[in-house]
Amino acid sequence: MADSRFKRVLLKLSGEALMGALEYGTDPERVERIASQVNEVSGRGVQIAMVVGAGNIYRGLDAAAEGMDRATADYMGMLATVLNALTLQDALEKQGGHTRVLSAIQVTEVAEPYIRRRAIRHLEKGRIVIFAAGTGNPFFTTDTAAALRALEIRAEVILMAKHGVEGVYDADPAKVPDAKFLPEITHRQAIERGLRIMDSTALSLCMDNDLPIYVFNMADERNIDRIVCGERVGTIVSSDGAVTPALAKGMGQ
Ligand code: UDP
Repeated sequence: MADSRFKRVLLKLSGEALMGALEYGTDPERVERIASQVNEVSGRGVQIAMVVGAGNIYRGLDAAAEGMDRATADYMGMLATVLNALTLQDALEKQGGHTRVLSAIQVTEVAEPYIRRRAIRHLEKGRIVIFAAGTGNPFFTTDTAAALRALEIRAEVILMAKHGVEGVYDADPAKVPDAKFLPEITHRQAIERGLRIMDSTALSLCMDNDLPIYVFNMADERNIDRIVCGERVGTIVSSDGAVTPALAKGMGQ
């Protein structure tokens, strides 16, 4: 078994990661594959926490656009992340993993309340921690929850799972066919170029606190294990990332 590069990581999964080829909801096979990778990483002795989104079920912003009160819609979004957290917990435990769901909104019958020191204790005991209900506050996203929780638990890195892209590009590859892949980039460059790695609140939080983000393609779940083992996969966003020449030109640096 290869040595692991990190001791404690936070994996951010969007709700879409659980959807597979479906248009809505969760694909059990996909969830099973993700769970198996997470269990494998945990089995290596790497402490792993997860933040899961809810885009596969519900998005507050979409509901607000249809006339719903934004804060109410966001609370519904946060509750939807609890459903995904329980789905993941079930899949992980079916495969023998030890898990705890910690929720930022109290749902004490199904999850522990989020208490930072308790989260750290679970990780130290080798349990996989799933953070549910985002930050617990409307007007935020689960990306911000990932940045916040990663800092709180002193994770060394955020593993940011993406769909259909290998990492970060200098333009949206879905719209610009010759968009260039960027193996490394700084947080500041990503913010200035408006590259959609995570929302700007989350990215700023990572920048201000020197928290690296590894952006990778979740189409191949084994990428999680590869990164943890030190393989060069996807894009590294860090405060001192080598300035990519093409990007520097575009920025007039
Ligand atoms: N949300 C929120 N505060 C948070 C995290 C999430 O209000 O701290 C709500 C928000 O409405 C969001 C929804 O929960 O649309 C689902 O989260 P997100 O869109 O981040 O999920 P993802 O895109 O990662 O699937």
